[in-house]
Amino acid sequence: MNHSLFAALCAGKDLDEPAILCGWDRMISYGALFEASGRLAHRLIALGVGPGDRIAVQVGKSAEALILYLASLRVGAVYLPLNTDYTPAEIGYFLTDAEPGLFIVDPADADAAAPLAAGISARLATLGTDGESGSLLEHIDTLPASFTDMHRAADDLAAILYTSGTTGRSKGAMLTHGNLTSNAATLVDAWRFTADDELLHALPVYHIHGLFVATNVPLLAGARIRLLPKFEPGAVLRGLETATVMMGVPTFYTRLLADPRLDRNATKGMRLFVSGSAPLLAETHRAWEERTGHRILERYGMSETGMNTSNPYEGERRPGTVGPALPGVSIRIVDEQTRTMLPAGEIGMIEVKGPNVFKGYWRMPEKTATELKEDGYFITGDLGRLSLDGYLEIVGRDKDLVITGGLNVYPKEVETEIDTLDGVEETAVIGLPHPDFGEAVTAIVVRSSGSKIGSADILEAISARLARFKLPKTVFFVDALPRNAMGKVQKNILREELLDIVY
Ligand code: ATP
Ligand code: MG
Repeated sequence: MNHSLFAALCAGKDLDEPAILCGWDRMISYGALFEASGRLAHRLIALGVGPGDRIAVQVGKSAEALILYLASLRVGAVYLPLNTDYTPAEIGYFLTDAEPGLFIVDPADADAAAPLAAGISARLATLGTDGESGSLLEHIDTLPASFTDMHRAADDLAAILYTSGTTGRSKGAMLTHGNLTSNAATLVDAWRFTADDELLHALPVYHIHGLFVATNVPLLAGARIRLLPKFEPGAVLRGLETATVMMGVPTFYTRLLADPRLDRNATKGMRLFVSGSAPLLAETHRAWEERTGHRILERYGMSETGMNTSNPYEGERRPGTVGPALPGVSIRIVDEQTRTMLPAGEIGMIEVKGPNVFKGYWRMPEKTATELKEDGYFITGDLGRLSLDGYLEIVGRDKDLVITGGLNVYPKEVETEIDTLDGVEETAVIGLPHPDFGEAVTAIVVRSSGSKIGSADILEAISARLARFKLPKTVFFVDALPRNAMGKVQKNILREELLDIVY
């Protein structure tokens, strides 16, 4: 049996049904999708790509980028998508680390990429976003549409996904066909996907959220993907007219809430809104329900594991939590020092085990050994607690924990208290070096528009609710928090910037 993810994706499809809707101009049926990926698979072979070879890809979002991903699966290669914001210097690190045989970039970037490719003796090819430009597609119609797929074992690599680099240098997570196939199948069931669905896709396709969750899941179910080049409220509102599901990062939801056109009527055909990649404020959850009548379903995952937990499709979607473990996935909370399991309600390291958990970090055997334990549990680096009924609450990353005077302060607890104050839009709490306390709790606050709330108001309001050692020593006000493309707050940037100001 072929355990390739592609074999699972193409099984039982109605070839005449639409697979990808490119904006509102173009429809690609499942039959056309498979033919185009077959042709591109022949092209990849002609470019010297064989099973196990890495293909590094830094291209803009398009249907062809997804077709390239499918072609990579079909030839048995290892797909390695790269954030389109990365500069040539950053790309240099990924290329020397992963040593791909082929590097694919946008035609406009070919000159800058040529020396990088030459430096690792990789071939360079190009792919544009207009569906026709780029060397990969030259005379593509002359190539056969049928392709005999390479057989893959469940344990063979399908992709190397570099983590977002939120807490340090990105690491290459090695994901197998088995990892991706099992996670997609679990989510099709958990979120009730069928061939009648239309998924509104406004996420980037170089990250796990847009590439695996929002692509593999609808394709496995035989649903349609409405592919938008990027998040833009007007286009998304138009997409909501025919879509049934949207997957987004929390900033999608806050930006839509800021648009007066969002109301019950605009979302009346929708059956599901999913959020992930960064914490969704409980307040956003409530505001969304008030405005649209829909309760956002928040889930939790990462490059190394795919999706681990999800609020239920039926049953309570609890704001501020990421729901219980998905079927087949085990979650446990562990004391970092003693490595013993903690009971419900206590905060500790979140560890995950299941068929979704990756094979290890690319060429980092030591890091793999310290984070992926022999009993199969992966140490996520996120801190959290489980409720008695199994709902997981994430309280922040281990690296963001503030230790002040020897006591632990979980940033989220302080952030949540400040966020609920009138006049506050959002908050980030970090630790800054302090001569007496080791670290000083520091709050960075974005005021809501027109608000004049000051540091003393905030401290006074929360002092009755938080122990003294948890109170910020300093409160800074900024216009916006630094975020990456997935809406993750970049606390490392805040720490660096404030260190420069304070010291
Ligand atoms: P790096 O590992 O390089 O520091 P990263 O962890 O941000 O970067 P990703 O794999 O893209 O890289 O993101 C996974 C992380 O995103 C999780 O470990 C978690 O901290 C965060 N995350 C994902 N979903 C949620 C969620 N629903 N709520 C809170 N945090 C989330
Ligand atoms: Mg991480």
